[in-house]
Amino acid sequence: MTAAADAGADVIVVGAGSSGCVVAERLSREPERKVIVLEAGAGAPSASSLRLDRLPIGVGSDRVVHYPSQQGFDLPRGRGLGGSSAVNGGYFVRWHRADFDGWSPQMWPMSAIEEAYDHLDGGSPGGGVMNVSLFADDELHSYAHAFEKYWQKQTFDTGTSPWPDVGIVRVRSNRDGWSRHSAAGLLEKARARPNVRVLTHSQVVGLRRAGGRVNGVVVGEQVLSADEVILCAGTLGTAELLARSEVVEIEGVEVWEHREQLVRFTASGGRPEPARALLQSVLHTADGVEVRCYNDDFAQFIDGLPPSSPAFGVALMHPELSGSMSWDPVARLRVDLGEMSSEDEHKIRRCAEQVVSMLGGDDFETLVQPGSPRIEPVIRTSQHAWGTMPMGVRTDWLGGVGEMPGLRIVDASILPTAGSSGPHATVMMVAWQIAESIA
Ligand SMILES: Cc1cc2nc3c(=O)[nH]c(=O)nc-3n(C[C@H](O)[C@H](O)[C@H](O)COP(=O)(O)OP(=O)(O)OC[C@H]3O[C@@H](n4cnc5c(N)ncnc54)[C@H](O)[C@@H]3O)c2cc1C
Repeated sequence: MTAAADAGADVIVVGAGSSGCVVAERLSREPERKVIVLEAGAGAPSASSLRLDRLPIGVGSDRVVHYPSQQGFDLPRGRGLGGSSAVNGGYFVRWHRADFDGWSPQMWPMSAIEEAYDHLDGGSPGGGVMNVSLFADDELHSYAHAFEKYWQKQTFDTGTSPWPDVGIVRVRSNRDGWSRHSAAGLLEKARARPNVRVLTHSQVVGLRRAGGRVNGVVVGEQVLSADEVILCAGTLGTAELLARSEVVEIEGVEVWEHREQLVRFTASGGRPEPARALLQSVLHTADGVEVRCYNDDFAQFIDGLPPSSPAFGVALMHPELSGSMSWDPVARLRVDLGEMSSEDEHKIRRCAEQVVSMLGGDDFETLVQPGSPRIEPVIRTSQHAWGTMPMGVRTDWLGGVGEMPGLRIVDASILPTAGSSGPHATVMMVAWQIAESIA
């Protein structure tokens, strides 16, 4: 810890990533509520690491920690103020309305969900806390242009509403070219308040309990007390902390992921034009697949990756099977991404084959070397892990851990269902709405 914290606080927020910054900002609006934010990593990211066309997650980046997975994939997660919001792909898209079926309608009425999203993404005109809007037609990369043209011919519409649906989804992102992270949008405002302390380089290593409730955290040699501890350490960080503290049994707990298969191809006529963003357009199919039009080889976005070739992604957004977590005090957290059901394997394969056929067709004639599209055999991950402590099952509908008063979880761990879009906007929406409800 770089600064001595006072003896305690009303609320301690663990982790200053996508969710933690939202929670800290909302709860600290009440001047009498003392809030301490503890972040394991460093301060704000440098401006250069926030270019929308870069993801600072390569080996050697000080903005991420890498978790191993049983499958051998590296699972990088943002570290430092902004957390994963400062290193992610910048795609900020709401879930479909139908994805909230099964959420408690009393605690999560659609009107409240919409209002929270509106604050973050600015609704139809765009803007909001995260300064996101739809890429315009003349900003699209040639791959995204051809992609949309192809799917329009297959009778899919291009949606421009803030609520995506089945069809072509134009991505919302930071069109000015600089990723807006949660600390910039929210924490900066909060830390100017006298009732807020933000402590970086402050990794919480344990939760303190007394009288059957959580009443503080351990950071290095120091114990900080609070009436409530709110875990916003991300799905993997929170699971690690719960396991380390022996507060919740992590062994065998489900973890969900959007598995993805890539279709690679060789660009015709040398390198494509530079991409202003990783993703500008995706397709959402009726059977729950997201087809991602990446605008270039990943090596162009991530330092240290060996050059390969451009790719399209086919991601299963509503997987039938989960992976699981386990805890080994020596080997730390073990993440097993699990198997796919045979139905899901067929679904992803069918869609990948259609992408191969798309790349061989007229719309990509000038962009793709004939005969080059190929389906990668490995099924990867989207880095979206969620749902280890789902609301309505392992926590209440506001993230409270019933068997452990004083403890609440408000990060991607508590998403209770799968979403048809990436999780970032929804993780922040959930944090916004919970903070509003408990403030
Ligand atoms: C590389 C990458 C690309 C992605 N791209 C997209 C995308 O384009 N669109 C999309 O929708 N989603 C994307 N995601 C997913 C999305 O960014 C995450 O779902 C979301 O940011 C998770 O927010 P969170 O608050 O749960 O955790 P995080 O934002 O990861 O925040 C957790 C914070 O807690 C801190 N922390 C962890 N443990 C401790 C501890 N013990 N003590 C103190 N602090 C701790 C961490 O350092 C971190 O700052 C991406 C994720 C990654 C990793």
